[in-house]
Amino acid sequence: MENRTPLIAGNWKMFKTISEAVETSEQLVKLLAGTSGKDVMIAPPFTALSSVSDIIRESCISLGAQNLFWEKDGAYTGEISPAMLVSAGCKYVIIGHSERRQYFGDNDDTVNKKIRAALGFGLIPILCVGESEKERESDYTFSVLDKQLKKGLEGFSLDDLETTVIAYEPVWAIGTGKTATKEQAQEVHLFLRSLIEKEFGDRLSSSIRILYGGSVNPGNISELMAMPDIDGALVGGASLNPDTFSKIVNLVNI
Ligand code: PEP
Repeated sequence: MENRTPLIAGNWKMFKTISEAVETSEQLVKLLAGTSGKDVMIAPPFTALSSVSDIIRESCISLGAQNLFWEKDGAYTGEISPAMLVSAGCKYVIIGHSERRQYFGDNDDTVNKKIRAALGFGLIPILCVGESEKERESDYTFSVLDKQLKKGLEGFSLDDLETTVIAYEPVWAIGTGKTATKEQAQEVHLFLRSLIEKEFGDRLSSSIRILYGGSVNPGNISELMAMPDIDGALVGGASLNPDTFSKIVNLVNI
C-alpha cells in the first residue's frame, strides 16, 4: 500500500436500539483507546447517530451514516438529508450499499446524486460497488464494476473526489460467510484503481482508498490487508460485537 491511511469501517445495518448502540460504542472507545495511524468509522442506524456521536467525540472513532437523500430539505417523508447527518456528527456516509440497491431501488443514477449531495456538505462518501454471484459466474464482474464506478462518479472532477472512498463488496460475500479470496479481491481492487487512473489520472488513483467488504472477520483481515491495493475493510456482521470489531482494527498493521 502506498501512503494511504487504512480505514476500517463498521456498518451496523438495521441493528441496535439507542441503548444498545450506546453500550457498544462505549466499549469500542475503551477497546480502541490509543489507536493511531488508521481511521476507524462506525455507522449506526440513524436513530442512534446523535447519541453515539456524543460518546465517540474525543476518541479515534468517526461517525458514519448508512445512507442519505440528496435533497437539501423538503417534503420527502422518511428521508434524511446531508445537513441532518452533519448536524448529528457524521463525517462519512455509505452510499449504494448492495442492500440499498437490492431492496430500496438505489441505482447508479441515485448513487451519483447521493455522492454529489454528500460532497456538497463535506461528508466523505463510501461508494459501494460489487457484482452478484450470477454476474461473477457469467464473467460479467468487470463490466458490472466498470459501469457502477463510472456512472457513480460521472460528472465529478479529480478535486471533487479527493476524499471519496470506494468499497468493493461482492454481493455473494455479504453476510454469507463466503469471502473473496485475497487474490480475487486484489484482482478487482487493481482493476478499480486502474479504472480510476484512466478516468481521473494517477494522482487520484494512487491516493484513493479502496476497501474490501464481504464477511470480513479477525481470521481473514490480515491476509486481505497484505494485498497491495486493499486499503481497509467495510465490515458488517463482525462490526456488531465490539470485541470482534476491535480485534479486526488491531490486526490492521500500519
Ligand atoms: C456490509 O454490510 O457491508 C458487509 C460487508 O457485511 P458482512 O461483513 O456481514 O458481510
